[in-house]
Amino acid sequence: MNIINPATEEIIQEVEEDTATSVREKYRRVREGQAAWAALPVAERVGVIERFYEALDTEKDVLAATLTAEMGKPLQQSYNELNGARGRIKYFIENSERYLKEEWVTMEGATREKIVYEPLGVIANISAWNYPYLVGVNVFIPALIGGNGVLYKPSEYSTLTGLHIQRLLYRSGVPENVFQIVTGKGAAGEWLLQLPLDGYFFTGSYRTGRYIAEKVAPKLVPCQLELGGKDPLYVMDDVEDVDKAAAAALEGVVYNNGQSCCAVERIYVHEGVYDAFVASYVQQLKKMVVGDPLGPGVDIGPLSRPAQMEFLLEQVGDAVEKGAKLLYGGRRMEGKGYFISPAVLVNVHHGMRLMMEESFGPVVGIQKVRDDAEAVELMADTEFGLTAAVYSKSYERAEGVMKQLNTGTVYWNCCDRVSAALPWSGRKHSGLGSTLSYQGIRAFVQPKAYHIRP
Ligand code: NAD
Repeated sequence: MNIINPATEEIIQEVEEDTATSVREKYRRVREGQAAWAALPVAERVGVIERFYEALDTEKDVLAATLTAEMGKPLQQSYNELNGARGRIKYFIENSERYLKEEWVTMEGATREKIVYEPLGVIANISAWNYPYLVGVNVFIPALIGGNGVLYKPSEYSTLTGLHIQRLLYRSGVPENVFQIVTGKGAAGEWLLQLPLDGYFFTGSYRTGRYIAEKVAPKLVPCQLELGGKDPLYVMDDVEDVDKAAAAALEGVVYNNGQSCCAVERIYVHEGVYDAFVASYVQQLKKMVVGDPLGPGVDIGPLSRPAQMEFLLEQVGDAVEKGAKLLYGGRRMEGKGYFISPAVLVNVHHGMRLMMEESFGPVVGIQKVRDDAEAVELMADTEFGLTAAVYSKSYERAEGVMKQLNTGTVYWNCCDRVSAALPWSGRKHSGLGSTLSYQGIRAFVQPKAYHIRP
């Protein structure tokens, strides 16, 4: 399998793909090793993960350079991702023992009762490429701390990062028969679905997620899905600083080259501040530097996959055909690499693909609304349910909107952010189950109820 740099279209490295046989062999090894790992005290497993936490910092230069080379995010954002991943790991280090220890719940007569949290067993972590560290650590860190064996399949677009992760986990003390990487494309994931695993934890598109859920269903094991979004941001007319709201929205649209599951994908603006907001957004967008993600001061790099360029240009074309006005960008850029100029469109409506399908790139439509009721109606008009943001001076007014939305996360005066202490979960086509927070620790264990009558 060739690993291609999306900024230069050059082959960085050739990587050997797994075969059905090698995946089965990896499974056999991890199945063999898991029980001994699970028998260690939680504190000992946490100690191993502490060393991994340190290693991510010690090696950050090589890790960040690799990540930028294989998926194209600006170098500073690769450092930010590593930092963010360490923050999440720190949460797990500090909180896992508390949520994994046995709980005495009640005593009835002479019968004593307790809950013991046991690992699921051997799980698959089938992952995405856009934030390989962040979405990876959501799964394999609590899974390992919980005593599970892990078959980790990074995306084919972040394989080199996956190999670094495996190397550093081994160096930190995770045994080879507890964690194994599976390299390859969709077929490699498919072989994992054929194995009798004890849980499937997937991050990726709705299309693949639904397929996996269908395949895994007869096994009756946990299957968690972290999928895409079409996340709206609504700016109310009482917003204190329109320029600040426009800056935050822009950052939410273009950060990570627009390839974030919780990127801002649709913007609704109250008619009272619409003109000012659009003018400010366009003015700030024009200052964004698109180019070599290794270059200094670059805000937006290439898209990670060539097909995504065509997809986004089609969305823009469809919108323009249906009456949208392209205020800026939306074109393929000259030269090597999968670059498009970031786009903003107005006069948009929900009959356009741009406002309904996940874009997953630095393009957005801005729609004018009359009042909060119309904003709620439009924000709710989606198959997805990951996040939604409201910008307003008044928390009460914003909460009135946030309460009505069927999403796993809501934001007041912020957007496109994740906290390790809060559950990360999508509703509707955005997913099933939660990672992060105490729920994301307990997701990788199963309770056993003890009734003890001496
Ligand atoms: P994808 O669905 O194309 O691929 C995800 C993973 O599934 C890859 O490792 C891929 O090789 C594997 N896969 C593909 N076909 C398979 C099959 N038949 N069986 C088993 N595995 C298979 O998604 P992607 O392009 O890597 O990621 C982008 C998507 O992920 C976007 O929709 C984004 O919003 C979503 N995402 C969601 C979150 C979240 O937390 N909710 C986080 C990051 C990304």
